Amino acid sequence: MAKILFINGPASGHVNPTLGLVEDLAAAGEEIVYLCSEQFRGQVERPGVDFIAYDNFLDSGDPFQTKHFISVVIKILSAYDTILPAVREAASGHTFDYLIHDSMYGCGRVVADMLGIPHIATCTSLIGVERTAETGRDAAEMKKNSQLLRTFTVLAAQIRKKYGIRRNLALQDIFFNEGLMNLVFTSALFQPDSNKLGSHFHFVGPGLSGRRPQGVLPPAGDDNGRRLIYISMGTVFNRVHEIYDLMFEALASFDGDVWMAIGNRISVAELGRVPSNFTVAPSMPQLDVLARADLFITHGGMNSVNEALYYNVPLIVIPLAADQPLNADRVQTLGAGIRLERDTLTSGAIRESVNRMLASEHYRVRSAVVGESLRTAGGRQQAMSCIRAFKKQHRLD
Ligand code: UDP
Repeated sequence: MAKILFINGPASGHVNPTLGLVEDLAAAGEEIVYLCSEQFRGQVERPGVDFIAYDNFLDSGDPFQTKHFISVVIKILSAYDTILPAVREAASGHTFDYLIHDSMYGCGRVVADMLGIPHIATCTSLIGVERTAETGRDAAEMKKNSQLLRTFTVLAAQIRKKYGIRRNLALQDIFFNEGLMNLVFTSALFQPDSNKLGSHFHFVGPGLSGRRPQGVLPPAGDDNGRRLIYISMGTVFNRVHEIYDLMFEALASFDGDVWMAIGNRISVAELGRVPSNFTVAPSMPQLDVLARADLFITHGGMNSVNEALYYNVPLIVIPLAADQPLNADRVQTLGAGIRLERDTLTSGAIRESVNRMLASEHYRVRSAVVGESLRTAGGRQQAMSCIRAFKKQHRLD
């Protein structure tokens, strides 16, 4: 049996899909040391898993004040200064055989070099997102870019010096730390151009099991076939008061129930009067909600999108940042939903889209086609079989 260092980012969207895998690895007798922020201890810790906490570098009012690609990369690079000391601490008490790391927050290649061990990335974004990132179209944007690039270069030099890192730290590599093997939590159908990617990318579908549910399921009422719309803007970029207000305005007259999870960055009280057909809570057990929802209005986080499709639920995606625009486009291209723009969003557009989508079978049928690809992608069993092959290849078994 081998000893695994598992590094993840302090975000549900990155931790959730790994939980079933961790459960299986531990059951197979692997010893795991899992690094993440304290908030996730309760989700991750179990027999065979030793949890080490680092400071939550995303735990500020709005962790990404600017949604600009280079700023996001700077934020991720700054996190090396939190994660690498935790890695050193873990390595002082253990000898690891291989590394599993989140492709965004795991400092993957740097840690693999540091410890001299092979590494597997868990990927909770579509592959190639960083290549499509908008890095500036007009002059003002380009000026901002060059300032940000200078900040990035200075920070990269500091981090390299502080931790004795030899390899170059390039923008795109910080955003996406490719593993020797990569487990991607979607299907080959949802990933654009999946046939052009190397055989070290494995599309195992969304990781839905192994979770201890977040929040409480609202009471279903007498459920006389009433429609249910679920709204969530995820767990990171969810301080979007104006979007919640528009939802109230658009859907107060909706003849059905609306359940809205708003996260912890805004309180329910701050939203003022809640329409009688709405139930609003900081967090809801999303998988249970999606299992009964007719429509999902989402920011387009990769997990949220795949979870909805898994349950054949059509989507209205209002992308806010990061990989969300790409996910929104993919949903639209595959016919499973539509994309609306945050900047021009109106209550009328939301109401019209909801009515149109609920009146048509098209979106549910298309969602079910993608859902089938996700349900048959192999899940945690497939991920385990990939890891067994990886261990064999690297003589770790
Ligand atoms: N989630 C949940 N309850 C909530 C909101 C979110 O269980 O009220 C879960 C959701 O099922 C998903 C994750 O949190 O697994 C959010 O990940 P996603 O990639 O969609 O978005 P992010 O939060 O990373 O922006």
